[in-house]
Amino acid sequence: MRAELISTGTELLLGQILNTNAKFLGERLARLGIDVFFQTTVGDNESRLAEVLHTALKRANLIIITGGLGPTSDDLTKETAARVLGLELLTDELSLVRIEDFFRVRGRKMPEMNRKQALMPAGALVLANMAGTAPGMIVEQAGKSIVILPGPPVEMEPMFLETVEPYLKKKLGEDRVLIVSRIIKVLGLGESTIEEKIRDLVDKQVNPTIAFLAPRGEVYIRVTAKTGTEKEAMEMIAGIENEIRKRLGDYVYGADGETMESVVAGLLKRHGLTVSVAESCTGGLIAKRLTDVPGVSENFMYGIVTYSNDAKTRFLGVSAGTLEKHGAVSEDTASEMAFGVRQAGGTDLALSVTGVAGPGGGTPEKPVGLVFIGFAEGNNVAVKRHLFTGDREVIRWQTANAALNLLRGYLMQL
Ligand code: AMP
Ligand code: MG
Repeated sequence: MRAELISTGTELLLGQILNTNAKFLGERLARLGIDVFFQTTVGDNESRLAEVLHTALKRANLIIITGGLGPTSDDLTKETAARVLGLELLTDELSLVRIEDFFRVRGRKMPEMNRKQALMPAGALVLANMAGTAPGMIVEQAGKSIVILPGPPVEMEPMFLETVEPYLKKKLGEDRVLIVSRIIKVLGLGESTIEEKIRDLVDKQVNPTIAFLAPRGEVYIRVTAKTGTEKEAMEMIAGIENEIRKRLGDYVYGADGETMESVVAGLLKRHGLTVSVAESCTGGLIAKRLTDVPGVSENFMYGIVTYSNDAKTRFLGVSAGTLEKHGAVSEDTASEMAFGVRQAGGTDLALSVTGVAGPGGGTPEKPVGLVFIGFAEGNNVAVKRHLFTGDREVIRWQTANAALNLLRGYLMQL
């Protein structure tokens, strides 16, 4: 099966909206083993949409169009598709009832304009919309399937998963090849070091395949299996994953949906420990990331952003002498920050960070990217020095990662 995606909407062309539908559909179709050879984005313009659809019909047998199913006059996907395919538009009574109900349960009367959303190309398979008013549809013609879905991702995504995916699986039948990937996340080892440690696995890879991605100072190892069933794919991946974990040890911090913060939160919970954070250059990012994890409130107690020297002294008790002698970005300051923030509220553990995030402010002795991370446990404090590269955002992200990872390292030993 050869697929082609058409995203409609002038707002996409103007860069006002990111085309997340293309990302979502691309990912899902890849998982199903369906090749997507082209993606086109076209504005709300009938003749250009018709042109794009004509072209797609020549080179694909599965065409998925998103957007342009709204009630207003710039929504013209169905009308255009029906014209191109030579089909009449007819009111689908069930859809009309559903649309009327959608308004009724919200205590509103259906505007006359919405009636048009119940129009369907003759013979189309209608896809119910659980999250909005515009039904989707599948039209089959001359061995091709034309799938039309609403633009809003909250409507499109469930509709695709609940109706289009089963439809496609059925069409693919027995000889369907599933493509399943799993991302193994590594922090603290460079790509080349990792490659050295698993070279033999990489060299003999055929299925599953192994690929490296390097987002923001981390390394992701993507293991991809191609096979007939999800279960088989998972088993194939598990074999390679276990071997990779054995070779890389605790440098592997998680996989797939796991994040550094979710892993740390899980470990804190498991050991029943509390933590606080004192941040300078990360401006609250560590606290933010920890509080992104639901249920962390029993373990993460408080975070304080002490950006100025004065704040470091006033709220954390960092001595003026230390700041004077060693500066805000120093091992001593990081150490006193970690000690002070733990003392302030009596948590079991504490983290502190202070560094030069850039782009300005670097000196030969303290260049941009220099970061000190403090870790306090009871009255013991340890400090780690890092030199990160990247822009401000990347340095801040890596700093938060390294701090959380330091905490993870301690928790893993318990
Ligand atoms: P439409 O169905 O074309 O009227 O689209 C309704 C809304 O859905 C748009 O205003 C966007 O906010 C959103 N939308 C449409 N297409 C996309 C897309 N490809 N990716 C992300 N959001 C989209
Ligand atoms: Mg639109």
